[in-house]
Amino acid sequence: MSGDFRERPETLAAQALGWVEPATRSVVPAIYPSTLYERAPDGSYPGGHTYTRDENPTYEQAESLLNRLEGGDGALLFGSGMAAATTVFETLDVGDHVVAPEQMYWTLQRWLEELAARGRIALDIVPNGDLAALEAALRPGRTKIVWIETPANPGAAITDIAEVSEAAHVAGARVVADSTVSTPVLCRPLEHGADLVVHSATKQLNGHADVLAGAVVTARRDALWERLVHDRAYRGAVLGPFEAWLLLRGMRTLFLRVPRSADSALRIAGRLASHPAVRDVRYPGLPSHPGHAVAARQMSGGFGMLLSFRPRGGAAAAKRVAGALRLFRNATSLGGVESLVEHRAPVEGPGTRVPADLLRLSIGIEAVEDLLEDLDRSLAP
Ligand code: PLP
Repeated sequence: MSGDFRERPETLAAQALGWVEPATRSVVPAIYPSTLYERAPDGSYPGGHTYTRDENPTYEQAESLLNRLEGGDGALLFGSGMAAATTVFETLDVGDHVVAPEQMYWTLQRWLEELAARGRIALDIVPNGDLAALEAALRPGRTKIVWIETPANPGAAITDIAEVSEAAHVAGARVVADSTVSTPVLCRPLEHGADLVVHSATKQLNGHADVLAGAVVTARRDALWERLVHDRAYRGAVLGPFEAWLLLRGMRTLFLRVPRSADSALRIAGRLASHPAVRDVRYPGLPSHPGHAVAARQMSGGFGMLLSFRPRGGAAAAKRVAGALRLFRNATSLGGVESLVEHRAPVEGPGTRVPADLLRLSIGIEAVEDLLEDLDRSLAP
């Protein structure tokens, strides 16, 4: 903030909160590689930092920006999205109950199932966006976390954050929203009642597929937040200052990249929806998507870079199309400037809930006409 007005999020991001290094007046934020900080003769830490596993000024720059963009009360960076998510779950006591959706980031769902199999947590998995199923699963007083992901990876299922938050809070549970696909450009879950937001910052927040990072943002600095701050430092799930700096640099262009790829994704989804070689398209921007009305209400400025479709001809056709695309890189992950395709079920392996013929696309910032031509050519018989 400066003067008597509040800058818009685009300005905050572009200027990295307007931070200028005090000693040199450097406009580009500095990288602080130091792992340690000097004490004063009286033993105090006049710089406010002790050791880099606890805190580092380079993390704090990216955390402050993400916190402002999400409208939070605090943010913490982690060494990966998984490190962020698992640190949240590690705050639970043995036997605490968790509700998670059918469609969510697969590795995290597997990890939760492994925890449940070992008796660490009780777990219920419910269909995304099904309030009645969620309410039936909630165990008042025992359910501690309702995990949601919206839009969800890989099928872009939508969850009504406000509706889930109301039900979860009545049962005494906290709502944690994985908002990786939305980014704060398109949706701010805390405004809809979520208690924590989690990101794989590896994806569109950084946006250049060259950093592994995660983040948690809180609605309030309560006991759970203090526990997360403590646990990140004790468990050491931090990232390096160079990665934190790259993440901040990536976030400065967030408001150019996110709307651009969302606009392209909408055009591509529309084209695929009317393509004779395609039997099903999943993109919340399409009015035919079951979550479209909710997405239109709780997202603004677009529906994200993630879409999935099922070509006619089953798993073999999906494999062929993924291999035939030239501009879409056949690679995992999402949210970079380059477009990606992934035949998802074989990646997830036995037990996956993903249809065998589903192709996941992550839309980058290339010329959309090129991407459309690449898809048309690859889908041709
Ligand atoms: N959440 C979502 C929606 C993801 O897509 C991913 C990774 O693909 C993760 C979390 C995990 O993040 P990371 O790979 O940074 O650990």
